[in-house]
Amino acid sequence: MFMRTIESLGPLKSKTVIIRCDLNVPLSDGVISDDGRIRASLSTIRELREAGARLVLISHLGRPKGVPDAEYSLRPVAERMSELLGAPVRFVEETIGDAASAAVSELSDGEVVLLENLRFTAAETSKDAGERREFAERLASLGDVFISDGFGVVHRQQASVYELAQLLPSAAGRLVAAELDVLQRLTTDAKRPYTVVLGGSKVSDKLGVIAHLLERVDTLLIGGGMVFTFLAAQGHSVAASLLETDQIETVRGYLDEAERRGVRIVLPVDIVVAEKFAADAAHEIVPADAIESSRFGAEGLGLDIGPSSATAFAAAISQSETVFWNGPMGVFEIDAFAAGTRTVARALTETEGFTVVGGGDSAAAVRALGFSDDQFGHISTGGGASLEYLEGKSLPGLEVLA
Ligand code: ADP
Ligand code: MG
Repeated sequence: MFMRTIESLGPLKSKTVIIRCDLNVPLSDGVISDDGRIRASLSTIRELREAGARLVLISHLGRPKGVPDAEYSLRPVAERMSELLGAPVRFVEETIGDAASAAVSELSDGEVVLLENLRFTAAETSKDAGERREFAERLASLGDVFISDGFGVVHRQQASVYELAQLLPSAAGRLVAAELDVLQRLTTDAKRPYTVVLGGSKVSDKLGVIAHLLERVDTLLIGGGMVFTFLAAQGHSVAASLLETDQIETVRGYLDEAERRGVRIVLPVDIVVAEKFAADAAHEIVPADAIESSRFGAEGLGLDIGPSSATAFAAAISQSETVFWNGPMGVFEIDAFAAGTRTVARALTETEGFTVVGGGDSAAAVRALGFSDDQFGHISTGGGASLEYLEGKSLPGLEVLA
């Protein structure tokens, strides 16, 4: 797919460049637990600073409800980015308004401001195109050109991703371009065997990709919260585990379709079942088809794939030439439920094949578990965006740059 590159914008010295970044990092109590998305944003920022551009960074963080909410302030991100960049990143406590305009007009060549969370304004994600457009116009008035570099949001038709790109001369940033290269490699000439590992908790968001993947992969490994809808589709009880009842029929269809196509769908054979969702929860390993047989009965929560499953997943991964992984195998944030994710991550680092990890939490998981970025072929900053691309959907934030 062709997209306009930064070069198409002409010389950017002394130009005010708005960059839509994806600085949506995991935060707890104001502390950034994984700064991968900030690091990933730096190549475009560094290049443009060197070119003498004046940079206005915009991003969202989390899902505030369309009004300012200190919990979701980008302030800690400005501080971290400044450390990583080795240069000041001025933070402005609003996205649009007098203070934002003043800060932007005070910029000198090579200087950077970061505006407050876009999602403090409801119009950013509004379903009403007119509202989005109006907000985008106010954003556009802050700059001369627009660079779209928030790969994690290019599948969203949101004001700062879509409408803004229509209002100013616009182009894809280096991160978006790099991410797209990898995705093209996964969709056009992926070497076989090609294995996709799916997990995480956004089950209904992710099930859709399966239909499309069945047309191109050899093996699908299912872990995380998605497992239980599959187990239910096979007629097993899943106790109190994450379950999308209305998706059971769809999943049954996938299982049939996989069989027809000769695609191997591998489900866990054992599950770590816990008494409750907590770090100190009692837990035990039970067969995947007997989750209710744990000592927690119908209250039991499946929070990780079991060790036999993890070993089987690792074996499938090690035989693959291409592996795409989205979604942790379990609640990796809690040590007792991190083993499945750790085993799968290690298997990716040990295979000779081309490995891609996509998804905010998946990327955070591999780093939290002590792996480094260079042990993988590529760590994508976008989970939903990667999946939608692999699904063959058109991504509004990319289309608008074509
Ligand atoms: P990504 O951001 O990589 O696309 P998701 O956002 O879909 O992944 O899911 C990540 C979350 O899924 C993690 O916070 C993890 O704790 C959770 N998760 C994984 N397995 C389970 C499970 N069995 N039950 C509940 N939550 C789970
Ligand atoms: Mg996530």
